[in-house]
Amino acid sequence: MNEVKEGSTVCQTCRGSGWLVATGEGGEEVDRCPDCQGESRRSRLLDLAQIPPRYLNRGFDAYAPQTDSQRIALKRAVDYLESFPDVERGLLFVGTCGVGKTHLSVAILKQIVQTRMVTARFIDEVELLSQLKYSYGQDSPATEEQVLSPLTSVELLVWDDLGTGRPTDWVKDIIRMIINYRYTHKKQTIITSNWPLRRSSVRAGVAKTEQTLEERIGRRLLSRIMEMCEVVAIKGPDARTQIHKAGMDFQKQSRPDTENIAAGLIECPRCGKLDVTVLDKSSTKRFRDGSFMELSCLCQSCSAHFLARFFPESSAVEYPTES
Ligand code: ADP
Repeated sequence: MNEVKEGSTVCQTCRGSGWLVATGEGGEEVDRCPDCQGESRRSRLLDLAQIPPRYLNRGFDAYAPQTDSQRIALKRAVDYLESFPDVERGLLFVGTCGVGKTHLSVAILKQIVQTRMVTARFIDEVELLSQLKYSYGQDSPATEEQVLSPLTSVELLVWDDLGTGRPTDWVKDIIRMIINYRYTHKKQTIITSNWPLRRSSVRAGVAKTEQTLEERIGRRLLSRIMEMCEVVAIKGPDARTQIHKAGMDFQKQSRPDTENIAAGLIECPRCGKLDVTVLDKSSTKRFRDGSFMELSCLCQSCSAHFLARFFPESSAVEYPTES
């Protein structure tokens, strides 16, 4: 069916019917709604998905696995995408910060929207809770129902950072309501979480005080989620720390020590991909406005060589303005 139902997001042109009725010389004529087809529908679905700008270009090709579990996670994500919508269960990516859980989830979401043209939505838990709190205020433009309804109605929901919100009864009720609705209506959900699943999965060496997802959201909800989603555990270095460290090393003019420091951080100015590497770790080029690293794009179609520099405090990337 051609409808894009998501709160205020039903097609305004045809009101979600997919058809337009016009009165011509020969009487009434029915035509497909142009706004519900092809490119315009695709870009409207992408808008509705609310992918955070930071992740818009994080596709599968920009994911550079460094560990076996990252390679398996990437394969699992691609398999899921290829099988969708004939998939029994969603995915629950678990692992510490910066291993690429959000990156892979967004890559799936974006591809599914573009190729299957279904309604989908990204939501970060902390952001959701603050939208809800705001919705209770008198000046709020959106009601609680308007905030929640897209999360239950879309065909695919990506729920980022499950269990991050302070686990009050209210927070648990909200999560339970959305997850239960999606479970009973057989809708697909992809979840990420930084918490270890259960105490039994907390390995020796991990601080005893660290909480588990089970403790954050409750045992019943976790087992429901495990029914709905296949667990994909990702282990690996924190890409954010690597990026940060690389930036610091660069600023100190010492040699950056990681092959992949630029992957996922610096965009190739020619093709826009994030799969780039530092070309010559010992060389930098000086300009009036500072020093720049020499980089190379790893994508086969462009293979661009370019200069850029990174500011770790703001995560900003700058390209030289003069040659
Ligand atoms: P998580 O959700 O696991 O905390 P993210 O997916 O947000 O981590 O990753 C943090 C940053 O690092 C993002 O910019 C992401 O694109 C990048 N990143 C993480 N892992 C990789 C990887 N294996 N290859 C390329 N970029 C990565």
